[in-house]
Amino acid sequence: MKIIAVGMNYANHNKEMHHSLELSEPTLFMKGDSALLKDGKPFFIPDFSSDVQYETEIVVRISRLGKNIAERFADRYYEEVTVGIDFTARDLQTDLRKKGLPWEISKAFDSSAVVGEFVPLGRVGKIAELPFHLDLNGKKVQEGNTAWMLFPVDRIIAYASRFFTLKIGDLIYTGTPAGVGPVHIDDHLEGYIGERKLLDFYVR
Ligand code: MG
Repeated sequence: MKIIAVGMNYANHNKEMHHSLELSEPTLFMKGDSALLKDGKPFFIPDFSSDVQYETEIVVRISRLGKNIAERFADRYYEEVTVGIDFTARDLQTDLRKKGLPWEISKAFDSSAVVGEFVPLGRVGKIAELPFHLDLNGKKVQEGNTAWMLFPVDRIIAYASRFFTLKIGDLIYTGTPAGVGPVHIDDHLEGYIGERKLLDFYVR
């Protein structure tokens, strides 16, 4: 199982990060299966970063084997979605970016890919207009809607499958909107699609 993630997929997040790139294709990166954290287990802040930040994202689970998938057929390759966190060691990432080096260690470290409970897409809405948000210690800190994506889910799947064979159980993290921020010990994170809570865990 692999995790494919999209960076810089919401204009309001790119603005807060001061990215001014005009992207013609999605920006992809990957995390290994050791990055996965699920079932509401706590996230332990790693010792190599003093600025681990949450990025709240819609996560799609691949339900069918595919390669070179046409965008118009991409919706046949997923049935379930959830909300997840793409944890990022921002201090490491900033440093690596500055040097023009790959940012894997800042993005793909153990437990950096948190997922909530997967639900059938039909039960939460349409992939093209899913509202989602994150509450941090009971206060809404991040809010998004898949309609705001620069590259919609089907486009991401078509593009990613040109390079990587998609397999059943692979996960796609689809990017984060504005409002990212640091986490601290004992923080409580709750993620929602619409009003439905799918993600609930603590930072330790
Ligand atoms: Mg992200």
